Amino acid sequence: MFTYSSISNYHSFLAENPDGCSIAVSHFLAKIKEKESLNAFLEVYAEEAIAKAKWLDDKRKTGKPLGKLHGVVIALKDVIAYTGHQLSASSKILENFRSIYNASAVEKLLEEEAIIIGRNNCDEFAMGSTNENSAFGNVLNAADQTRVPGGSSGGSAVAVQAGLCMASLGSDTGGSVRQPAGFCGIIGLKPTYGRISRYGLIAYASSFDQIGIFANNISDVAIVLEVIERPDDFDSTLSNAPARNYSSELIKTGKKFRIAYFKEAFDHASLDPEIREASYSLINRLEEDGHLTKAVDFKYLDYIVPTYYVLSTAEASSNLSRFDGVKYGYRTDLGSSDLTEFYKSTRSKAFGKEVKRRILLGTFVLSAGYYDAYFTRAQKIRKLLINKTNLIFNDFDLILLPTSPSTAFKIGEKKSDPIAMYLSDIYTVYANLTGIPAISFPLSTHTNGMPFGIQAMTNRFKELLLLQFSELLAQKYTSFQNPTSGN
Ligand code: GLN
Repeated sequence: MFTYSSISNYHSFLAENPDGCSIAVSHFLAKIKEKESLNAFLEVYAEEAIAKAKWLDDKRKTGKPLGKLHGVVIALKDVIAYTGHQLSASSKILENFRSIYNASAVEKLLEEEAIIIGRNNCDEFAMGSTNENSAFGNVLNAADQTRVPGGSSGGSAVAVQAGLCMASLGSDTGGSVRQPAGFCGIIGLKPTYGRISRYGLIAYASSFDQIGIFANNISDVAIVLEVIERPDDFDSTLSNAPARNYSSELIKTGKKFRIAYFKEAFDHASLDPEIREASYSLINRLEEDGHLTKAVDFKYLDYIVPTYYVLSTAEASSNLSRFDGVKYGYRTDLGSSDLTEFYKSTRSKAFGKEVKRRILLGTFVLSAGYYDAYFTRAQKIRKLLINKTNLIFNDFDLILLPTSPSTAFKIGEKKSDPIAMYLSDIYTVYANLTGIPAISFPLSTHTNGMPFGIQAMTNRFKELLLLQFSELLAQKYTSFQNPTSGN
């Protein structure tokens, strides 16, 4: 029977099994079928994946050099473009839309011989924290099917959690990779803003959006990151720093880290006491082992969620104006010759409730009378946060925060209270506002049976340090093993 643990073990398996990629693909296709009720996939590319696996198996027999992701089975959140394949952002407005080009990240996965196995369910246009905003149904958390997987990249998280693929790509605008990773007990990395090309990623809030990676171990995250972070000409916000070879630099460095944490965050009333205790206990153990840990003053905590929701909805209202029924996807059947009525009818019928709420909110904060009161102010706070963050990184290597204030919610628990839902993003939006890289690593299991994560952050473009620290967590401070994948 095929079992998967890491890309490097899989590659050793392939060296001994001429039909190894085909064996892996059949394994994952069977798993996807078996766990269909989780609703993690909107579409599975079974035939293509089987054909690609065969092609790769044949290629290995020729002795030609192999790609870094040779035969690695990867799933994509339904906001990442893949030529010739449907791309819907889990929205009715893009139902039946097919992409005519590859996202740069996908292009790079394919160049390194990955196998794309399917398209993952998510919150509509990546707006949400539970995956309940998808137009194509909820995704269930494989650890407890009465609970949400988190969002917005819920399907991509569950695909890894339940062992339906080896790794997956999501997108993280305010926590959508880290929060579901925390809720599902897996690893989720949001790289530095500008690290991975956004070309071919459906825009939600362009100054926040970043493609992220879900995996079961740090070395897999490292390999996928080094493949997809290559420079390309299609995203002007992309760094042209040369790609790093993270996977070969992960080795234990014996480094002692200087770690800052925000007491305001750890003592915040919304934080579950068990998560608080486990997070403090991690800090104490790090300190005992000679790392420097220090509580730093952070008086902005209560401003970050409002700032994020003002700025991200403003950007969303502009980005989503292109979905008007003329250029893409769904078009109203209203036989009106009035263009405004036509737009109105298309958008009213095809956008879901949360997307409409955010377009309205964003349009409001950008309106002439309120622009200065909301948008300009929020931008000022963003700048303050960036300054404060730069100061912190003058003295520290890392910032530690919980990933989320609670474990995965029960399905429906927060649906009728959008403010409560937004507030649960308290620990994740900070990294998007400041553009720094952040990872959620599984820390422990709650007495309610659900996993929860700890979040580490470094200064911009210091992913190597972040991965080295995460590897240390993996080796020494957590007993993380994906409990549900069973693969
Ligand atoms: N929960 C956040 C939101 O709803 C995260 C979104 C995201 O990162 N795409 O905006």
